[in-house]
Amino acid sequence: MSKLARPNILSLQRYQPGKPIEEVKRELGLSQVIKLASNENPLGPSPRVKQAIENFLPNIQYYPDGSCYRLKQALAQFYNITHDSIFITNGSNEIVQQISLAFLEPGDEVIMPVPSFPRYEPLTRLMNAVPIEVPLNNFRVDLDTMASRITSKTKVIYVCNPNNPTGTIVTKEQLDAFLRQVPENILVVLDEAYYEYVEDGAFPNGLDYLKQGRNVIVLRTFSKIYGLAGLRIGYALAPPDIVNCLERVREPFNVNAVAQEAALAALADQDWVRKVRELNAQGKAYLYQEFTKIQVPYIPTEANFILFDAGKDERLVFQQCLQKGVIIRGGLGYQTRLRVTIGTGEQNKTFIHTLREILGR
Ligand SMILES: *Cc1c(COP(=O)(O)O)cnc(C)c1O
Repeated sequence: MSKLARPNILSLQRYQPGKPIEEVKRELGLSQVIKLASNENPLGPSPRVKQAIENFLPNIQYYPDGSCYRLKQALAQFYNITHDSIFITNGSNEIVQQISLAFLEPGDEVIMPVPSFPRYEPLTRLMNAVPIEVPLNNFRVDLDTMASRITSKTKVIYVCNPNNPTGTIVTKEQLDAFLRQVPENILVVLDEAYYEYVEDGAFPNGLDYLKQGRNVIVLRTFSKIYGLAGLRIGYALAPPDIVNCLERVREPFNVNAVAQEAALAALADQDWVRKVRELNAQGKAYLYQEFTKIQVPYIPTEANFILFDAGKDERLVFQQCLQKGVIIRGGLGYQTRLRVTIGTGEQNKTFIHTLREILGR
């Protein structure tokens, strides 16, 4: 690595994404590969999205609308908030980076759960700020311990809800109690990438806190239930003065025009969202049942993925699944646990079949 880099860059690792299907086919000479590694929507986006993209294609020589005007209007109406509370980005990943750029000074502390979304920590280090990592307690984000780690240097707190990779939630009651202990000058980021999948009635809607005037940034995305991961578009809901800061650090055309059109069409088709949620609930029930049959412990989930315990070295299980054309997610910080995305009925069957072969059950 070049000695010219800023010293804190040396501590950053390259992000290791879920393996792409094409790469696995190429490397292993397989013709059939399914990917249940990155929590993508197995049905893809609404058919209306595909139509909207086709209709839009004659316009791609123009720069996108850098202000995302129409999408902001649509989201403002959808959530009954003002458009100046909305910040749209090239995937919600990008917002985590913009939060760092806009708010973190060297030495600021950022409290985050681990394991959780793996971008909070490097994007904190990027700014020479200090990640304060708080282990999960019984696979749940440990808000009590996180509150106890607040100091005068704390600037940002990340709460991933539901938490990735465990699928667990913190309840409204727990989050209310937590927020009562957090001083108003600390930004609480509620990462709700899987919000639309949640079934548990005790789940807190981050938007309610925003509407009450709290200093929260709610992260949502079109990558998961809306099926647009490949187009890269997500958004934050936050108080206008926070959005104003974020707007200053973003690139002028951070969200491409096709993604904006696709997101508009996706948001307008809530029947499709219901259909995806329904398929996910069915897949979840099936996987619970099969895991139980073959005595594989799992963590009940509120999202579209399940953390399960294979009972042997997770690196081995990952490789063995890969050899059989099933990409799942390991390397999560557990010895024997891996994460599988809930797929179509067919994909779930293939995954269970593969797992049974590998575990000999
Ligand atoms: C997938 C995911 C995101 C966002 O992904 P984008 O594709 O960048 O919108 C954010 N947070 C969590 C916890 C996720 O799992």
